Amino acid sequence: MRNMALILGGGSVKDFPLPYCIPLYHTVSDEHLPHLKHLYDYRNTQQFEKDLDFMARHFNFISYREFAERLSQDKKGAKPAALLTFDDGFSEFKDIIIPILERKGIYAINFINPAFTGQTDLMFRCKASVILDMVINKGFSLKKINEMTGLRLANSGQLKQYLLHISYGKRSVLDRLATGLGIDFREFIRNHRPYMDLDDLKLAETRGFGIGAHSWDHPYYASLGPEQQFETTEKSLQYLKENHIGEEAFAFPFTDFGVKKQFFERLYSRNPELISFGTAGIKTDSFPRNLQRIPMERTDAASIIKGEIAYYQFKERLGKNKIERG
Ligand SMILES: [Zn+2]
Repeated sequence: MRNMALILGGGSVKDFPLPYCIPLYHTVSDEHLPHLKHLYDYRNTQQFEKDLDFMARHFNFISYREFAERLSQDKKGAKPAALLTFDDGFSEFKDIIIPILERKGIYAINFINPAFTGQTDLMFRCKASVILDMVINKGFSLKKINEMTGLRLANSGQLKQYLLHISYGKRSVLDRLATGLGIDFREFIRNHRPYMDLDDLKLAETRGFGIGAHSWDHPYYASLGPEQQFETTEKSLQYLKENHIGEEAFAFPFTDFGVKKQFFERLYSRNPELISFGTAGIKTDSFPRNLQRIPMERTDAASIIKGEIAYYQFKERLGKNKIERG
């Protein structure tokens, strides 16, 4: 659907329709990262800096605390406020991103999964990306995968389709495939150290950056029952509290699409200060403390933001910019 914005052409950034802009990234790297390469086009350092410079011209980057304050007071500045967000707690945040942001004086918050903090496991989608990467770049056997699954995958394109459609509920399939192929995820984690450790999170905070919760282990919420949704959310928030880190902030893994009214009511009654975040672009929500973010890894920031504005304007005529929840 968002591609429609590209057909419509870009809107002007002066017409940004909300008082805030919340960009979402995962990581920034100049290297080939096998666990992310096949999931999205993460930006390299030069592209990321260009993105930041563009956004800084049009928006006023602020901290989470300031953002939360503005939201509760319904305060608006001359320029729309921007809250820079990252998901998944990848280690490039401390090694690459924080140094860039410190140089530019820009704040960011990173939403993390406690199940992976401290290099204890790899998120299931990252496992899919590693397996695909090993077949494409390291000569691991597609034939072996066909033998194990009974499928007839003919090329890496079909393998990608298959691997990236393995759901959270079936994620153990990825571990079995890896074992069969001779891929050792524990060794991969030891060598690559993809995630920040608890000490890294604490250090990020002392350097003025924010940490938020992102569920325990990154499930797809629409596929969970209401109790499971609540449990994985609370467990991740609890982890931050127990370790005396983090803001009262929660970002849905993947998307909040299909998450019901009752979940939000329970979430905010238990955590009245909490702000939650989705990934639906420029949109408002029937729950005013659930804010939608703009995924920033398809192309450059200028094209994405202008495209999102055009798409918003197009939907405005149809009255489709507010998410209603049943
Ligand atoms: Zn995520």
